[in-house]
Parts: sequence; C-alpha cells; structure tokens
Amino acid sequence: MREQPVTAYDDNNIFAKILRGEIPCVKVYEDDHTLAFMDVMPQAPGHLLVIPKTGSRNILDADPDVLAKTIPVVQKLAVAAKEAFDADGIYVAQFNEPAAGQTVFHLHFHIVPRKDGEPLKPHSGAMADVEMLKAHAEKIKQAL
Ligand code: AMP
Repeated sequence: MREQPVTAYDDNNIFAKILRGEIPCVKVYEDDHTLAFMDVMPQAPGHLLVIPKTGSRNILDADPDVLAKTIPVVQKLAVAAKEAFDADGIYVAQFNEPAAGQTVFHLHFHIVPRKDGEPLKPHSGAMADVEMLKAHAEKIKQAL
C-alpha cells in the first residue's frame, strides 16, 4: 500500500466533526460550500471562523475552486462582523502547519473585529462563555 504523506488530511479533526454534526458549534452562517461559527477561544469579541465543507488540511493542499467559493464568504462575514461590533478594522488570519501556528488541520479563516488601541487576546487562550458566543453570533447574523 502506498504510504500517505505526513500532511494528508485527517477527517478526525475537530472541524470535520463539527461539519458531521458530531460536536456542536455556535453557527453564524452556512451555505452549500461553507460553514461559519464562533471561535470558542476568541481573541476579541466577535472572533469567528469560516471553513469550507470540503476537507483540506490548509491552504497548501486546498482545491482552488474551493478557495474561490470560500473567500467571498470570508469577505461577507468580515463586513458583517465589522458592522456588528462597530470595529475599526478586521483581522483575517489563516495559518498553515504547526510552524505557522496552525492547531486544527482543516482549512479555516479567522475573522477578528479589532478596535483601535485594544490588544488581541492570546491565540487559543481562554474558553468563552457559550451564551456570550451565541449573543455575538446573533449580532453578526443580524448584520448579514
Ligand atoms: P489555528 O489552527 O491555530 O488557526 O486555530 C484554531 C482555532 O480553532 C483556535 O482559534 C481555537 O480557539 C479554535 N477552536 C478549537 N476548537 C474549536 C471548537 N470546537 N469550536 C470553535 N473553535 C474552536
């Protein structure tokens, strides 16, 4: 049997489990190709993640057609999050492989509302209260 490369997509990752409905998420948006949900360890209020439904480990192995369907959703949600949180700016981040800070190996884009002078909380820091995340998801949905 041919050996898998070390960077093969593994569908036991937590976002694949969210896509299969095996674990919950605080959903913000869904269409045929993408799902967006609140990050459980937000770096700022309104921090959400956009993932394609097609599995790839990160941008390095992603199908360009999948990226082409995902980026407009990232844009749509960035605009909505900016309005919902009256943000001065939006940070969009996407990490590839552990050396670059990736911890979950299903392609995802972070969308983080930023306010002038307010520092970001640490990446993968404290778990947020789920009721607060639900309230933040509602605010973003209303701005969509
Ligand atoms: P990274 O792979 O470094 O880009 O970051 C993965 C992100 O996923 C981190 O910001 C985590 O807080 C977030 N995260 C991990 N598990 C979950 C989960 N079950 N639901 C929502 N966000 C998660």
